[in-house]
Amino acid sequence: MAIRNIIQALRLDGKVALVTGGNRGIGKAIARALGQAGACVAIMDLEHENGMGTVDELAGEGISAYFVQGDVTSPEDVKAAVAEVLHRSGKVDVLVNNAGICRNVAAEEMAWSDWYDVINVNLNGVFLMAQAVGREMIKRRCGSIINISSMSGYIVNHPQPQCSYNASKAAVNHLTKSLAYEWAKYNVRVNAIAPGYIATNITAPNLNNEWGRTWVELTPMKRIGAPEELGGIAVYLASDASSFTTGAVFVVDGGYTLI
Ligand code: NDP
Repeated sequence: MAIRNIIQALRLDGKVALVTGGNRGIGKAIARALGQAGACVAIMDLEHENGMGTVDELAGEGISAYFVQGDVTSPEDVKAAVAEVLHRSGKVDVLVNNAGICRNVAAEEMAWSDWYDVINVNLNGVFLMAQAVGREMIKRRCGSIINISSMSGYIVNHPQPQCSYNASKAAVNHLTKSLAYEWAKYNVRVNAIAPGYIATNITAPNLNNEWGRTWVELTPMKRIGAPEELGGIAVYLASDASSFTTGAVFVVDGGYTLI
């Protein structure tokens, strides 16, 4: 497909996007950006009340959005959530696998649940969602899946100890490439965004202590990112402007991984 008008190709009018963990933080900012570009956005998250609040907020900005409750680690929830979106919207053009958690615990002290829960949400949840939505995209021979990874898929986040998180994100990067390879022949694209430190609930408790000061110091741009700063790359990857891009991991980290 030759793109004659890039700005037009970036529009998402008529497309349906499903964003996991979209109630707050990066997921909410990406849902907003996709909605501003014209997509109808289905937000999937754990908490119904928060979800309805987010949907009302986006609707107040003229964005078409609705909430679907579900846990990405539950095969039953995933199946039901995807079925609900298909019932309401008829298709899924874009899946953003954003839901993620983190546990800052030293490896030698880590409880099995701290290891398992992080791998379960950050990796198993991404696979479950990608498989359920990917099957529908394969039938339609089109779709864009965007996995929210982390720069910690490349480097060891520090000074905080978080081996389960780092390992989960490295696995997401490779899962992204593996799915991209398998589904390229169906015109289903799979890419990832690997953010550096972003101001959200995950980082908030430590932004003003020694960890936070270290993160800023080690970031060449000398600041933490805002969730909204991931919206542009998400819209690009969701849109036809990136029609020949698959299996790529886009680092958005203020230069953190350069040094
Ligand atoms: P937040 O904690 O602010 O938001 C995460 C969202 O995911 C919450 O709404 C949460 O719901 C939801 N969620 C958690 N577990 C599940 C689940 N099992 N099923 C469905 N939804 C779930 O985090 P961020 O916005 O910071 O993180 C979003 C993504 O970005 C994550 O994958 C994270 O690893 C990644 N990332 C974040 C960075 C940062 O510096 N903030 C840097 C690099 C990557 P609830 O509110 O109910 O818990």
